Amino acid sequence: MAKKVLPLIFIVAIISGYLYYGKLRQESEIIEYKYRLTFNGTKAYLHVRGQCEIGPRPPGTIEHEKCIRYIVNVIKSYGLTYHLENFTFSDPEAGPISMVNIIVSLGSGDKILYVGAHYDTRPRADMEQSFENRGKPILGANDGASGVAVLLELIRIFKDRDLKMEVRFIFFDGEDWGIILDHYFIGSRYHVKHLPSNEKKKIIGLILLDMVGDKDLQIYMEGFSYRHARDLVELIWNTAKELNYTQYFVPRVKYTIYDDHYPFIQEGIPGVDIIDFDYPYWHTLNDTPDKVSPKSLEIVGRVVEAVILKISEDRGDFTYV
Ligand SMILES: [Zn+2]
Repeated sequence: MAKKVLPLIFIVAIISGYLYYGKLRQESEIIEYKYRLTFNGTKAYLHVRGQCEIGPRPPGTIEHEKCIRYIVNVIKSYGLTYHLENFTFSDPEAGPISMVNIIVSLGSGDKILYVGAHYDTRPRADMEQSFENRGKPILGANDGASGVAVLLELIRIFKDRDLKMEVRFIFFDGEDWGIILDHYFIGSRYHVKHLPSNEKKKIIGLILLDMVGDKDLQIYMEGFSYRHARDLVELIWNTAKELNYTQYFVPRVKYTIYDDHYPFIQEGIPGVDIIDFDYPYWHTLNDTPDKVSPKSLEIVGRVVEAVILKISEDRGDFTYV
């Protein structure tokens, strides 16, 4: 009897597995079709290469200035305008250092959604094995260039779309400068401190992209985000699930990380850090473009694209229930 039942169980399992897979595929195709997602990972990857060809890009260097020019030139090539938020950071050892946040605003409405990434790269590879290498600057293909690349591609695909709220794309400076916590996320801290209070009230939240290009992509929910922007976190990870990306956007908290979203959270603005912190090349000289893949950039880009469209559909009236 057991011999006859067993194959039947297998057949049922295979059929139901096939049907379930079919259902998942169908659902992800529906949402892709509904929102007509167009984020292109290959185009985004070219921006990872473009930035890395400049070399390491820490503040105070010619390469940092070249990176600003790179970002600005891409924005100009889209026929868009931008705003430069200049400020000076007084480093106790290095002295005054000029920094700048780059801001591109699309759409208009009563609400503002921030989408950000840092473009500066770390001046020292402090996770390197050898003491000698620890003083060298990193290339930051994933830690820096990947977030910028996704932002630039998002700007390209949204520039001609009808948005029912303002989406403010911001390229932060000085995220990875510090050794002590006070000398990190300098640009985001400056920006949020200088926001007029009437604007601050309009902000729905910040979606931050950092280290989003790892070939082996696994993005867990981040601790501060989960605690302070739960609904936005759930919207993002649920959208990823709808797109059949659950293996890349794992719906559970793993790390709690200080990043550019933290100054926003401190000011009472919900901030979500989309970050893949399981990256063995973090803060090493091996954080190079070959560790980043167009596919990973596309997965993250499409999730954020769909999330922006969903929030826009509600005219930015994204209520935290
Ligand atoms: Zn970093």
